[in-house]
Amino acid sequence: MDNIVLHVADVHKSFGGLKALSDVDLQVKEGTTHAIIGPNGAGKSTLLNVCIGRIAPDTGAVVFDGEVITGKHPHEINQMGVVRVFQTPEIFPELTLLQNVMIPAFARRDGSFRLNAMQMVSSQHAIREEAEHWLEDVGLKEQKLVTAASLSRGDKRRLELAMGLIQHPRLLLLDEPTAGMSRHDTNSTIDLLKKFKERGMTKVIIEHDMHVVFSLADRITVLAQGQIIADGTPDEVRRSVKVQEAYLGG
Ligand code: ADP
Ligand code: MG
Repeated sequence: MDNIVLHVADVHKSFGGLKALSDVDLQVKEGTTHAIIGPNGAGKSTLLNVCIGRIAPDTGAVVFDGEVITGKHPHEINQMGVVRVFQTPEIFPELTLLQNVMIPAFARRDGSFRLNAMQMVSSQHAIREEAEHWLEDVGLKEQKLVTAASLSRGDKRRLELAMGLIQHPRLLLLDEPTAGMSRHDTNSTIDLLKKFKERGMTKVIIEHDMHVVFSLADRITVLAQGQIIADGTPDEVRRSVKVQEAYLGG
């Protein structure tokens, strides 16, 4: 039996007269990498924001691990294990890599940044060790004491990934993980994401780069103008005439 981690159930969302999402229904199975692709304006970011509770759907629901999360606060959804990285740079440029990775762990442990001094001290050592572990995992351990501002674009993405991983995601949502990257950085990001895939991590990836999508995805949902025009394995999607017309350019 395949366990469904995320079910977006018949979601509709309009902005004024514009239908950003119409009747969107998709399921993400445990341990899979599920890509969402589609042209600009297709509704991908809106869909992601619905999943993390930043946008309320007009109708429909989001079910995470069997529980309806629609209407919950984004912070609460995050605490349940839904972790999003990469939409906007959310690193702290003036802090070291180690400090950057420690911050989400503190925030998560207490549900806020309001820890008392005793908790701070006792948590700090363990969190520091864990932050080092995740920096090593993404290949940044040597630079742990460097300030984040000095990192290359590709390394900033690695840092953001480490900041996501320390939250122990049950579902990792990646918004365009390779946007603006060189081919070299893109390939090393693909390798890193493949490593997480081997560990059985469940991921949803929004991505423009077809090379990335076809390298990583077990399943692909194609959105166009707010509607799902295809949903299937990479091979099925590649063969879809609708997709070729709407997106892949023939
Ligand atoms: P994608 O991420 O696939 O490029 P978006 O989800 O960002 O697409 O946008 C889908 C459509 O909804 C676009 O036409 C966009 O202009 C519109 N849209 C997105 N967010 C808003 C908003 N907050 N207010 C009004 N229109 C929006
Ligand atoms: Mg977008």
